[in-house]
Amino acid sequence: MDLSKRIKTLTGDGSDGWDLYRKARRLKADGVDVVELTIGEHDIGTDAAILDAMHAAAKGGHTGYATLPGTEELRKAIAARVADRTGIPTTWRNVVVTPGGQSALFAAHTAACDPGDAALFIDPYYATYPGTIRGTGANAVAVRARAERGFQVDIADVAAAQARTGARSLLINSPNNPTGIVYSGETMREIADFARERNVWIISDEVYDTQIWEGSHLSPRQLPGMAERTLVVGSLSKSHAMTGSRLGWIVGPESAIEHLANLSTHTTYGVPGFIQDAGVFALSRGGAFEDRIAEPFRRRHALVAAFFKERGVPIVPSKASMYLMVDVRSTGLTGEAFAHQLIDRHAVAVMPGESFGTAAAGHLRVALTVDDERLMRAVGYLADLVSELTDAAA
Ligand code: PMP
Repeated sequence: MDLSKRIKTLTGDGSDGWDLYRKARRLKADGVDVVELTIGEHDIGTDAAILDAMHAAAKGGHTGYATLPGTEELRKAIAARVADRTGIPTTWRNVVVTPGGQSALFAAHTAACDPGDAALFIDPYYATYPGTIRGTGANAVAVRARAERGFQVDIADVAAAQARTGARSLLINSPNNPTGIVYSGETMREIADFARERNVWIISDEVYDTQIWEGSHLSPRQLPGMAERTLVVGSLSKSHAMTGSRLGWIVGPESAIEHLANLSTHTTYGVPGFIQDAGVFALSRGGAFEDRIAEPFRRRHALVAAFFKERGVPIVPSKASMYLMVDVRSTGLTGEAFAHQLIDRHAVAVMPGESFGTAAAGHLRVALTVDDERLMRAVGYLADLVSELTDAAA
């Protein structure tokens, strides 16, 4: 039986960008001691107290179909966090709970775009973006943010793509995966002006909002006239080390949330009640707990950036996230070819920039997700290989 074009073209024609990750997993299964600096997974598990709350909720009977689109208690806790962090009035009616930020991205595009509509996203991008957009039936259109501009998007490029395609939405991600770049206030204001002028939805993926090492986080929803046209995607995955719990949300205007609630009923049927209760408990622990979860990445980011600087290895000057991008264009190799050499010769696995689109080609994304000692040894091999291959290319 033939399948739909939509499902067959979800990941495009070529690689889905996860080859290096799969190679690392294969080698590991064969007993090779691979240092995995690939995916954004904390090296600690979910906090024991959160697991205890989850267990207590399940034992207490919250194991049936849970309230859609999220328990009122959790929606209130998320709204309070958003209001507190942004200063923008937010109530539980502005919140829909989703199984992770990933499902929120899909739902937000389903709300903003009809099948066949263009939906803009910025390259480099989190690897699932184009497939997620295509999955909704919309047409995924990439706009490049250039390395020479420090990967800050140029609004003229966005406006030109919108004029060409009639796009109804723009997906942004600050702090950014893979670059670790935080959009400046100026970039964010230009995005907001563009959205109002062109009557475009902004889908703002803010799952890394607790991982900012310098400066502060500005959500487009905070800018004048933007709360009514912004769908903010959030998640406890990164902020609370709860990747496996699949607990995310969309914050948006009430009218959109009502329809998104309807979408939950007809797609996921929500998030298990005992996980939602654990989410309420996790959020009740406040900012100090979030800082504690972020702290190892803050430390490693500084350590690794200083090390590469000392070794003369160029990096993307980022001030955020659990990742750091290395520029290996001096070696004459693609990020992909370099990453294969690194894993083959030193059993260190990183993601090639090409996994995140075309704009980060010739770069590597290093996830800072192993203990400091192992991490420093791995980036030492990486720096050695950059020097060796750069000399060979000269
Ligand atoms: N957005 C970005 C930018 C991400 O990096 C990720 C996960 N790596 C997600 C969304 C999805 O996160 P989750 O579904 O775990 O909330």
